[in-house]
Amino acid sequence: MQVLYKSTRGKEETVTASMAILKGLSEDGGLFVPTEIPKLDVPMDELAKMSYQETAYEVMKCFLTDFTEEELKNCINNAYDEKFDTKEIAPLHEADGAYFLELYHGATIAFKDMALSILPHLMTTAAKKNQVKNEIVILTATSGDTGKAAMAGFADVPGTKIIVFYPKHGVSPIQEKQMVTQKGNNTYVVGITGNFDDAQTAVKKMFNDKELEAELDAAGYQFSSANSINIGRLVPQIVYYVYAYASLVRQGKIKDGQEINVVVPTGNFGNILAAYYAKQMGLPVHKLICASNDNKVLYDFFRTGTYDRKRDFILTTSPSMDILISSNLERLIYRIAGGDAKKCAELMQSLTAGGEYTITEDMKAQLADFYGNYCTEDETAKTIAEIFKDSHYVIDTHTAVAAGVYDKYVKDTNDTTPTVIASTASPYKFTRSVMEALGADTDGKDDFALADELSALSGVKLPQAVETIRTAPVLHNRVVDAPDMPKAVKDILGIR
Ligand SMILES: *Cc1c(COP(=O)(O)O)cnc(C)c1O
Repeated sequence: MQVLYKSTRGKEETVTASMAILKGLSEDGGLFVPTEIPKLDVPMDELAKMSYQETAYEVMKCFLTDFTEEELKNCINNAYDEKFDTKEIAPLHEADGAYFLELYHGATIAFKDMALSILPHLMTTAAKKNQVKNEIVILTATSGDTGKAAMAGFADVPGTKIIVFYPKHGVSPIQEKQMVTQKGNNTYVVGITGNFDDAQTAVKKMFNDKELEAELDAAGYQFSSANSINIGRLVPQIVYYVYAYASLVRQGKIKDGQEINVVVPTGNFGNILAAYYAKQMGLPVHKLICASNDNKVLYDFFRTGTYDRKRDFILTTSPSMDILISSNLERLIYRIAGGDAKKCAELMQSLTAGGEYTITEDMKAQLADFYGNYCTEDETAKTIAEIFKDSHYVIDTHTAVAAGVYDKYVKDTNDTTPTVIASTASPYKFTRSVMEALGADTDGKDDFALADELSALSGVKLPQAVETIRTAPVLHNRVVDAPDMPKAVKDILGIR
């Protein structure tokens, strides 16, 4: 069966998977969605015997139907290799009555690696398939995690360059060090004197600048995006839910066909949407538990049916979930509107213009698969401390939001379904907040010293990712004002 992709906002034309990956976003501003969600066509007892890479092939081939077997297997084998510090790629850790699915064993120790280590290969393969002659230039604005993971993925991938803009004074010391020490002849990191929104706005403007596009084309370049709205990031994320389920069957923790719950610490709604797609493919999932921090737009949405971004943006200790516009929710809205792109476009228009929208009762009834809740800062820190005390297992702040919400869910429902919690970052990426939650004295200590303390306390070896940047030389020191970003891009590409 061939799966094609169309926009959530009305453009009727369908494109192949490889074109959807190259384009990133539809021209009408909508996101690409598969015209139909394919079914998993391998029996679970077979999946239970497969490696991560083999599972990835069985899942991804259902969605990326215009890739050949050889192309897809090449992409998978180039992505999920020694860059990950465990052969299992995404291991499960049983603690505190749940299974933590550790998605942070890749190069940048956060779950973004799961998709961004394969996206460059999918993109260059897609470019070849569609006779794109230009070199692809990935432009990314980052608030910390995505930029580094995207660079790690695209570094030295032939036919690509990547330029990352980050707020010079808006990221953590470890995050900045991770970025400015990035190796690779095709990677460029630029600090900007504005905030993340300034960077993001300027990048979007460059994507829509026809004059710049023509200048780039003449020089043999074209822009593309590694943002989480790219379908090439969503599809690889479905894999680990299938793999987690198959691992539980293999380990005898559940029986084939038995339902599980999935808890996901959520920001842009990409990760949990992948779990939802896995369920639509036929994976036995009971509830999709959506965990938010104090920026609890999604919790309010699941409760009331109204999505309202008109509120203060709260800075929390789980910064990758500090977000008020969850872009990927649009794909769920489209689905619960029964594929009515006009309705979906209307709601998104209302969000842009008035800052909110309300779904119909009919649509709301289709959200029964989801449960939403949130954790305050206090609850998040307490969860880290409690799980460490009870199970001697250290989790990061984002994962703690999910674990705390899971506790609330169990109290609310008494549901005893086996549950997988998506563990989205290594505690070493947010060492200071984790050590503070564990009651350590952090005053006057830098993040590397705290990482050593965490290692001594937990007995978990310092990840190579932290060890490497501790002494790595700074390779990037470009800083510009936000309005000068296009000039910086042209400089980098040698366009005058
Ligand atoms: C990006 C990120 C999230 C949020 O994932 P979404 O797909 O945006 O919902 C959660 N935790 C960490 C550590 C992240 O980097």
